[in-house]
Amino acid sequence: MSNCDELCIIPENDKLPNDAKALEHDFRRYLVHHLGRFLGCNPLYFYEALSLTVRDRIMTDWRNTWLEHRRPDQRRAYYLSLEFLIGRALGNHLLNMDIRDESAEAIQNFSLVLEEVQTEEPDAGLGNGGLGRLAACFLDSCATLKLPVLGYGLRYEYGMFRQHIENGYQVEEPDHWLRNANPWELERAEYTQTVHFGGHTEHFLNRRGEPRTRWVDTEDVLAIPFDVPVSGYHNGVVNTLRLWKATATDEFNLDEFNAGSYPESVAAKNDAEHITMVLYPNDSSENGKELRLRQQYFLASASLQDIMRQWEANHGDDFSDFATYNVFQLNDTHPAIAVAELMRLLMDEKKMQWEQAWEITRNTMAYTNHTLLPEALERWSVHLFERLLPRLLEIIYEINARFLKEVAIHWPGDSERRRRMSIIDENDGKSVRMAYLAIVGSFSVNGVAELHSNLLKQGLFRDFYDLWPEKFNNKTNGVTPRRWIAHANPEMTALISKHIGDGWISDLSRIDKLKPLAAPEHRDFHRAWANAKRSNKQELATLVKQECGVDFPVDSLFDVQVKRIHEYKRQLLNVLHIVHLYNRIRRGDTRDWTNRCVLIGGKAAPGYFMAKRTIKLINNVADIINCDPAVGDRLKVAFLPNYRVSSMEVIAPATDLSEQISTAGKEASGTGNMKFMMNGALTIGTYDGANIEILDAVGEENFFLFGLRVEEVEEMRRDYDPRGIIAADEDLAAVFHLLESGHFNIDEPGIFDQLIAAMKDPRDPWMTVADFRSYVDAQEQVSCAYQDQETWVRKSILNTASSGFFSTDRTMQEYNRDIWKLRPMDIHA
Ligand SMILES: *Cc1c(COP(=O)(O)O)cnc(C)c1O
Repeated sequence: MSNCDELCIIPENDKLPNDAKALEHDFRRYLVHHLGRFLGCNPLYFYEALSLTVRDRIMTDWRNTWLEHRRPDQRRAYYLSLEFLIGRALGNHLLNMDIRDESAEAIQNFSLVLEEVQTEEPDAGLGNGGLGRLAACFLDSCATLKLPVLGYGLRYEYGMFRQHIENGYQVEEPDHWLRNANPWELERAEYTQTVHFGGHTEHFLNRRGEPRTRWVDTEDVLAIPFDVPVSGYHNGVVNTLRLWKATATDEFNLDEFNAGSYPESVAAKNDAEHITMVLYPNDSSENGKELRLRQQYFLASASLQDIMRQWEANHGDDFSDFATYNVFQLNDTHPAIAVAELMRLLMDEKKMQWEQAWEITRNTMAYTNHTLLPEALERWSVHLFERLLPRLLEIIYEINARFLKEVAIHWPGDSERRRRMSIIDENDGKSVRMAYLAIVGSFSVNGVAELHSNLLKQGLFRDFYDLWPEKFNNKTNGVTPRRWIAHANPEMTALISKHIGDGWISDLSRIDKLKPLAAPEHRDFHRAWANAKRSNKQELATLVKQECGVDFPVDSLFDVQVKRIHEYKRQLLNVLHIVHLYNRIRRGDTRDWTNRCVLIGGKAAPGYFMAKRTIKLINNVADIINCDPAVGDRLKVAFLPNYRVSSMEVIAPATDLSEQISTAGKEASGTGNMKFMMNGALTIGTYDGANIEILDAVGEENFFLFGLRVEEVEEMRRDYDPRGIIAADEDLAAVFHLLESGHFNIDEPGIFDQLIAAMKDPRDPWMTVADFRSYVDAQEQVSCAYQDQETWVRKSILNTASSGFFSTDRTMQEYNRDIWKLRPMDIHA
């Protein structure tokens, strides 16, 4: 196949004009001559025509960036992830390419409003929550920092399910996000790869008498790449996210074909296409399904082959220098099979000896851990591996045998330690511990916040830390300030830039220039700050009214908890507080009351009973409280359905109080906490994950800290007595009394029994009841603080002004300094 990159080099100055007139012209041409629509059509086509207009203007930079990536001396990093939670693209590209105003003007002549056209875009929901959103923020920052980083992922036909609420219950609906054409992808069928499954292995001696292995009788699946552009901020860089789609090979099952069952043999192709059909909707838990392992290997194999193909185009078949120019970042253990796959490709396909292949593998792989929850640690049954990936299992066994010899040398006679550290878990049915495979095969292992990285070294990975302390490091997460401030909060962005210039957008450390403006004398600035918050609250109130039918008065404190619904994130603790406030109102204990609107949102994994039932509880509590005339504006509660990236873009700028209330030691980092802080929310939070670093940055007088710390949680766990705690606390007893009375579920008796029982169980891993008193006291301080609006606004400004560290630009610079060691590309706007 000819290499298009070589043949189609176009002159450098082939950029299209960006003025409003040119945009208007192209918009009209796309709408009328390309899409065959005209004014009065479904507004979806306005979005499509504008996106195609914008995409044309990305192409030149995209090609130039690609040529820079391809330079033979360019070291590159690859971010391998089963999830990229991208959200909408149009507004982000408009911001990055600095053509927002021109585009708004261009479509104004068609009486179209840019903000409305943007909402036609479906979210690209190729992820569950924080881990997938992190991958998307990372790519944004890499492009802005001009780092040659490629994302590799899967092009799921169905992304994260859409969540409806019916009678208070979550109902899942498939997210067929590709139903209407996706203007943000470019199919590159010329780079199709073949991925093998099944079959068996054959061992033989080659002509030189060396032992070799073939993997034969495999069922093959084709991987077709779809490229998504990732634009940098005002810098001429457009990096690539390459997403693989699975399709059947053209070969038919000949036996069936000849037996006259042509339709059946065509139908069998479906099996292959199923691999990238749907994103698994589990956050922080594994589900062990065969199709999921297929997805993982499909991503690893297609991506590695693609990279090796590019290598051969530059360097021929000599892979000895491969590790000098390539580095892989594994986003959790999901793509960890890449360790064994790289070994297979180097040995079986490129004829390399084990030692050299292992040296290369160990110098190219880096692993990021995202969780301490045991239920989230991936283990695959050896039986499944043997059937699906027999050659990979052989390689894993060999990696393990050699590794355990190393352990034996380090700790002679310590068979207990060898058993503990083995990649193969011999307990209850053999399984492969993917985290251990990732650690053994990598030169870097990192956690995602200081506390989390330290807990990994002391707990989960302690043996490995003892063996290889130099591998372990921390990279505290971040979020991109482009999407989460500049795009999501234009009013606050304009205000900040008016006072300190706009350099903070690409260097968030400069946001600390706002700090002096928090001083009491800057009254006008404070008023403008409060006004921006207020108009953002108005927008959120409109959304809440639309989606939930609940009125949120904008003078109330907006108290928000949005994130996946999970026991460790303790939405139930939030509910206990809500019910406590309700009790206070009912008994007339409302002196110096602060009106509150509590918003909760998030999806529960479809198979996670406790999480789904929590959603029902929140909705029932909301219904009772919102309809009680005795409550009025003092307390409003709403559950926002279908929480996703585009809803967070409305929520974060409008939030006064950010709820980050996980059980200490359970939230690895959190990133929602950072989006809220950047947008001037104050945090009520436990000493957990990146909350600790947020607290350090903003100071404890601007943060509402509560709850047990990690050591205290573990200490109390030993004789935890939730019933005793409830009995000893009048308020908490009243809350449980009301819950147990069936007040919130008169028509459906007993439905909350499991939730209540779990909180009262001495073995409750999340220790919800233990933190109630401290949480309620902190909430009382919040209410008090909100009454003094002047001080509150100053604290709000200080939160934004102290958020510089939490930009993914900083995170990516640290990955690059310590792990990737890439030279930024020589590209200019
Ligand atoms: C940021 C974000 C998350 C992560 O939130 P946490 O509070 O850190 O769990 C999850 N989902 C979406 C849509 C997000 O934007």
